[in-house]
Amino acid sequence: MKKITIAIDGYSSTGKSTIAKQLAMVLGYVYVDTGAMYRAVTLFALRNGFVGGMSENIPALVGSLHKIELTFTYNEDLGYSEMYLNAKNVEKEIRTLEVSKYVSRVAEIKEVRHKLVDMQKKMGKGKGIVMDGRDIGTVVFPDAELKVFMTASPDKRAYRRYKELLDKGEKVTYEEVLENVRYRDDIDSSREFSPLRKAKDAIGFDNSDMGLKEQFERMHNFALRVIEKQ
Ligand code: C5P
Repeated sequence: MKKITIAIDGYSSTGKSTIAKQLAMVLGYVYVDTGAMYRAVTLFALRNGFVGGMSENIPALVGSLHKIELTFTYNEDLGYSEMYLNAKNVEKEIRTLEVSKYVSRVAEIKEVRHKLVDMQKKMGKGKGIVMDGRDIGTVVFPDAELKVFMTASPDKRAYRRYKELLDKGEKVTYEEVLENVRYRDDIDSSREFSPLRKAKDAIGFDNSDMGLKEQFERMHNFALRVIEKQ
């Protein structure tokens, strides 16, 4: 059967990656979490003092982009790929609230977007890919056969993320997480380059009141319907 490209976009903490990962596994497709790529660049920027603290130096970050090597390496035990920054596994470090606070600022930078979008386009050349992010259906794969745009109410999303961070041992408050979710929604939707938008041909998917099983089943059905027509 012919393989397709699946683009899953949406707001922060809508659970895109959980569903995208499962879908890729069941279909035997490659899964790419583009948020992890923006987070890894942000981690690099924080470590080098280009963002964070009292001042920022975006030109220095842009000038150092060639020093950032991003790779995904498949972890057989987990059944999906993990993010490596300059040959080091950074999965844990990129999921902290500290990185979440600066990632939307870094993702606004035109040169950062160019570098990452180029990489993403190359990864999807052979199809058979599920990619999640903010601009996958609009910019990275405007011709994707299946596009889904996920939404959920801000408080539901913040609560899910809050629980996730607590489980990982981070000391955060619900209010802090809600503020971060709202802040990222704001910047991601209003930025000049590739703002977060629902593609005209994307299926809207509000999962505020849906469990994981139901979400997966619906998404799987969307995919099977499109694949059957190929
Ligand atoms: O998906 P996740 O929440 O991990 O993404 C982190 C941030 O990376 C988003 O808030 C957004 O600012 C940025 N991002 C983006 N474009 C993408 C994926 C993520 O701008 N395709």
